Amino acid sequence: MHHFDYRDHQLYCEEVPVARIAEAVGTPFYLYSHATLARHFTVFKASFSGADPLICYSAKANSSQALLTLFRQWGSGLDIVSGGELHRGLKAGFDPRRIVYSGVGKRVDEIDAAIGADILAFNIESLDELTLIDARAGALNRRARVSMRVNPDVDPKTHPYISTGLKQNKFGIDIDTALEGYRQARRMANIDIVGVDCHLGSQITTVEPFEQALAGLKALLQALRGENIPVQYLDMGGGLGIAYHEETPPEPKAYARPILKALKGTGLRLILEPGRVIVGNAGILVTRVLYRKRAGDKKFVIVDAGMNDLIRPTLYRAYHAIEPVTRRPGETITADVVGPICESGDFLALERPMADAAPGDLLAVMSAGAYGFVMSSNYCSRTRAAEVLVAGERFDLIRRRETLDDLVAGEQVPAWLSA
Ligand SMILES: *Cc1c(COP(=O)(O)O)cnc(C)c1O
Repeated sequence: MHHFDYRDHQLYCEEVPVARIAEAVGTPFYLYSHATLARHFTVFKASFSGADPLICYSAKANSSQALLTLFRQWGSGLDIVSGGELHRGLKAGFDPRRIVYSGVGKRVDEIDAAIGADILAFNIESLDELTLIDARAGALNRRARVSMRVNPDVDPKTHPYISTGLKQNKFGIDIDTALEGYRQARRMANIDIVGVDCHLGSQITTVEPFEQALAGLKALLQALRGENIPVQYLDMGGGLGIAYHEETPPEPKAYARPILKALKGTGLRLILEPGRVIVGNAGILVTRVLYRKRAGDKKFVIVDAGMNDLIRPTLYRAYHAIEPVTRRPGETITADVVGPICESGDFLALERPMADAAPGDLLAVMSAGAYGFVMSSNYCSRTRAAEVLVAGERFDLIRRRETLDDLVAGEQVPAWLSA
């Protein structure tokens, strides 16, 4: 369910015509619907009602300050994967005691910042990391709370680049090593063990991988009990998929069922780290058609957004529906929708049946709220897009379009060659 609908052949976001926003802010821009975000957050949380889970929204899916502020107001915590995301989270007002920190490559400065902020937990991804965190906490005269991120070796059946819970993936610690990690952590001077964590991957569209992971975690929890190593939290990570095209991901309730069942009677508090399922279908990328061209039978629609704005089609061969902002009668064509970047991989869609589009027309690239703007870059010295939030009848710029001066800000030419 989202709030991008047609009225009188015009695409609206809630109560605002998308074309009106394009007039105001130019193209390309990302557009998010407040009502959709609220609905997704509420439905997700309600699916676990009774368990009183701590939802730690996964910042990397979309780390806009405006969106983070909303999630905080709705009672969310935050899952971060870098010192940059810690900075964003603290700036958006998150209580550090609701922040969990995952990631295989935490640097010393990032670890120090998170210890200093007194976050809820580090999700530990290697025994080396555990040793370093203990040492840093000691050096800072603080304590650090940890969960082991277990790699349960299950196949999430998603794109290989976003699968993280297989043993050949770099993420997490296998169950046996994790148990060893808990034993070591218990003896460490500056570490408090708080939980068990896992995250299987992203855009997972069946519940089976979660069920398989739960079986592995259950065995680990049992072993921990056997060794008298108490934990308070079970963190099931994120990864629930959304419908981009023809996927049929489980409803949040169906996803919640096996998790709640496994949790029952354990006394553990549940942590969840949803990202995509909250923001993915709450955002679109709006772009303008620049040109059309033909090469034999092949048709191209050339638009002003490229792989630097939305890299998912290029990186994962991801499908994003592309809809006209103004619907009008006319023929359907099959075309590649491509951007201005000097790479043949610069496409938003390939061989896509779509309404014929003329120069000047606006197109909406749907389901672009997650891993959209956050993965954008300045490649080809393109300024990054604006971001807009709609709430009812109002719309607000939440990130201005970058300027040409932004492109060179921070650069300097050494004096010896600027003469
Ligand atoms: C990316 C990530 C998430 C969120 O994944 P989604 O598929 O967007 O729900 C959660 N936890 C960790 C550790 C992650 O790396």
